[in-house]
Amino acid sequence: MRSLRVEVKGVVQGVGFRPFVYRIAKEYGITGTVANTPQGVDIVASGDGDSLFLFLKALKDEAPPAAIVEKVSVFSAQPPAAHSFEILPSDRGGQKHVLISPDLATCEDCTRELFDGSDRRYRYPFINCTNCGPRFTIISDTPYDRPLTSMSKFEMCEACASEYHDPGDRRFHAQPNACPVCGPRAWLVDRDGKEVAGEAAERAAQLIKDGRIVAIKGLGGFHLACDATSDEAVGALRERKQRYGKPLAVMVEGMPEARKLCKVSRDEERLLRSPRRPIVLLLEQEGSPLLREVAGGLNRQGLFLPYTPLHHLVLRDAGLPLVMTSGNVSSEPIAIDNEEAMRRLKDIADYFLLHDRDILVRYDDSVTRVFKGAEYPVRRARGYAPYPIRITPPAEIEVLALGAELKNTFCVLRGEQAFLGQHVGDMESAGEIEHFEEALQSVLRLFSLKPELVAHDMHPDYLTTQMAPEFGLPMVGVQHHHAHVVSCMADNAVTGDVIGVAWDGTGYGTDGTVWGGEFLVCDETGFTRAAHLFKYPMPGADACIFRLYRMVMGVMSALFEDEETALERLRARFQIEDAEAESLVFQLKNKVNAPMTSSAGRMFDVAAALSGLRSEAVYDGQAACELEAVATSTREYYNFILDRSVEPWVVDTRPLFREMLVDVEAGRGPSEVAGKFHASMALVIIETCEAIAKATGLDRVALSGGVFQNEMLATWVVDGLKVAGLSPLVHGRVPCNDGGVSLGQAVIAARSS
Ligand SMILES: [Zn+2]
Ligand SMILES: [Zn+2]
Repeated sequence: MRSLRVEVKGVVQGVGFRPFVYRIAKEYGITGTVANTPQGVDIVASGDGDSLFLFLKALKDEAPPAAIVEKVSVFSAQPPAAHSFEILPSDRGGQKHVLISPDLATCEDCTRELFDGSDRRYRYPFINCTNCGPRFTIISDTPYDRPLTSMSKFEMCEACASEYHDPGDRRFHAQPNACPVCGPRAWLVDRDGKEVAGEAAERAAQLIKDGRIVAIKGLGGFHLACDATSDEAVGALRERKQRYGKPLAVMVEGMPEARKLCKVSRDEERLLRSPRRPIVLLLEQEGSPLLREVAGGLNRQGLFLPYTPLHHLVLRDAGLPLVMTSGNVSSEPIAIDNEEAMRRLKDIADYFLLHDRDILVRYDDSVTRVFKGAEYPVRRARGYAPYPIRITPPAEIEVLALGAELKNTFCVLRGEQAFLGQHVGDMESAGEIEHFEEALQSVLRLFSLKPELVAHDMHPDYLTTQMAPEFGLPMVGVQHHHAHVVSCMADNAVTGDVIGVAWDGTGYGTDGTVWGGEFLVCDETGFTRAAHLFKYPMPGADACIFRLYRMVMGVMSALFEDEETALERLRARFQIEDAEAESLVFQLKNKVNAPMTSSAGRMFDVAAALSGLRSEAVYDGQAACELEAVATSTREYYNFILDRSVEPWVVDTRPLFREMLVDVEAGRGPSEVAGKFHASMALVIIETCEAIAKATGLDRVALSGGVFQNEMLATWVVDGLKVAGLSPLVHGRVPCNDGGVSLGQAVIAARSS
């Protein structure tokens, strides 16, 4: 007989790990104990050598589906007193290093019971088990045990308690275990708070079929739901939510319904069905009954499957694809409380499907896609965050990185774990700052994180930059595009020197100008700006992001070197009032409020506007997305010049726009112009990287920044770099957009200090 102590680290709490250990201990005749600790799971196991060997092997090989075993350490131990195997109460002391599984979509077993008329949980909206259900959204502290969750107020009935205490039951120690007798309930109210009679989910589905908008309380917040095939319902939702132009996500009941709307590859199906249940961006199926309007003019539609029992009920009863968009008013975070939702969404929703299991932490839906057979995340939130990104080598100092401004996330780096927080949106309103602070406090508390250093963007006007001193810690300012490139390196577990291509809309440069079409030679501690796109003036600065013709005027002024001629050519294509025309000329002539930018995002805007797609945008990046949607594949391209006589090198795109203007004036359509523009921009990246590689001897190219969400460009660039003998690195665990910047900031700050 031998005795061992086994420490297991990873996601081993709230995923049925202790019952699993109990089961395999019984199977191999092991005596001893298992307990949750702040670091993970602790086991004392006693048995003969063979049994112990098999027990340890099963521990690693047969772990429950939602568990992630990261490390198993074995020590010799004193024999346990017990002659059986026992599950001990949790130990709550000490530093917390345990990882908790993010929220998990309703599993197949529970879905079956949900629709089984003979089951005691038939149509019960809060059915769950050890393998599924809410996690982070109901936890107030670790370890993950019922008293520390929003389930603490519900006392289990006898039947539920016996499942909970029976190691052979699939609900053994399922913390949110509940049933219609003892658990949370759902109910439906109108705008005035008056309860609607009947079964809540069934009534809500009927109202949606009748064209109404229903706010539905989910896992990480409220959704606004309506019939995705009804012009009127979708129109009303957009108008009341003031969400014009932006795409809306659609939830469908299952895979057969998904295939009616979109083409789904095997990789995409895997993501759609994963327990993380993200929104997956898919190409539309021909003859899809979805309104074009739902996708907001883009060529990809965001689709997801039900992930709570309540979703399953509503979707099945409605029998329709439903728009399910975040329950918020634009520029506010997603609502989580019943009263908060009733107050904030009263002018949007006709009815509210509420329940009394409180959401303790706000989580939006995650958005993802497949690029070249691998996951290519767009937004990390529910189901993903704050599960840490592993980095190597471990950081020697604990760092809090505050991220950028738009699509913000924060990151706390400790050792080899980078806890990237959930997407909190654009840091522009008081509500969003509150969301940021709530989310940050929750992550710091749950993992006992104690940052020693704060990293922030260099932009003096970002709210995140202004927040940095409040932490009372040493601060490190990190250049935006350097952070992008290093986030891509960390994402790929790469260290050392690389060529970095950071193409996005806006980032504050070290020279105080607006960067965004950058080629860096860098590592995690510093960078040189090797090359950048030609700088054009932005008359009216940020006004150019929405009034695209203003940026076209900036480019025209550089093409014609005379503002009056530029204006004349501009007015031949765009309707511009005299007052605005005058201000454009004034700003450019006198260099007033016309900052210079090397932004690649703005170049996509100009191409979209010049080709006749749109002259104004509702949101940053809209025109670029539409440009990609219409572009036809082509081998033709526009010319550009890589000017190596200056430091840093400059990619002169004036010839490109001159030729584009000729095309447009000759009546060539947007698809053709867009195709040639994409081909040219891909070539700009490939040829510039080749030249930098030749000069430096480097061959790895990290591709980051929001522009790389453009699949056509990304595909051509990745393929072209490979043909040129270079090794492209693309994102796979964090977004290429500003949602990944905090990871780069954290790594740079840790490695530089
Ligand atoms: Zn389940
Ligand atoms: Zn019960």
